[in-house]
Amino acid sequence: MFTKKKTYLYLEQAKELYGDVLYTSQKKSSDRLKDHSAETKNQNIKILNDYEMSICACQKCQLGKSRSNFVFGSGDPRASLMLIGEAPGEHEDKKGEPFVGRSGDLLDKILSAININRESGVFISNVLKCRPPDNRNPLNSEINKCEPYLVDQINIIKPRLIVALGKVAGKTLTQENIPLKAMREKTYYYNEIPARVTYHPAALLRDPSLKIDTWEDFKWIKSFLNNYDR
Ligand code: URA
Repeated sequence: MFTKKKTYLYLEQAKELYGDVLYTSQKKSSDRLKDHSAETKNQNIKILNDYEMSICACQKCQLGKSRSNFVFGSGDPRASLMLIGEAPGEHEDKKGEPFVGRSGDLLDKILSAININRESGVFISNVLKCRPPDNRNPLNSEINKCEPYLVDQINIIKPRLIVALGKVAGKTLTQENIPLKAMREKTYYYNEIPARVTYHPAALLRDPSLKIDTWEDFKWIKSFLNNYDR
């Protein structure tokens, strides 16, 4: 501990060395916050990578045999927003990344309209991590086996908001079997985190008139997230 005398001597010495300007090693609190958040981000990258390595050879269901790649998900490991689709399609299966086809391009455009991109602010994953053959709907048995992976991802990333894209993801997250239109009107909780449902980008490609409602949903998402800037 510094006594008064020691402090005085230190200041005298500092004055001799540096003149009247006192330099301290104390960082500004905003710098410390930045350091802290970079540190947590790096920790999360490692935790997520380790987790991916531990599950990517999964053979809990038959999709493990037919897949080309296990599609873990990608994005910001400390994202405030997590988007959950249904399952990888052909392009995603080939590339090992979620939403890389036409739906993915449209999703990127929607995200950029609310100033989010895949590097910062969002983590994208699917209910199923492996492609169902011929893009058939996921079976309940497949969802039941794969959903714990999603829950673990959410526990690591700790997003402020989860958004399900489309009916399959919506039904999985809300446990409700109602029309998507009705799901859109409510805030649910999934794993204790607020969750919303909106249209799947593939639905917007089939029916562009749905873009109007989808834009309303994303405006809501943006204003929700603005209250929780990390
Ligand atoms: N559709 C999905 O639901 N997920 C993807 O990753 C791609 C298309």
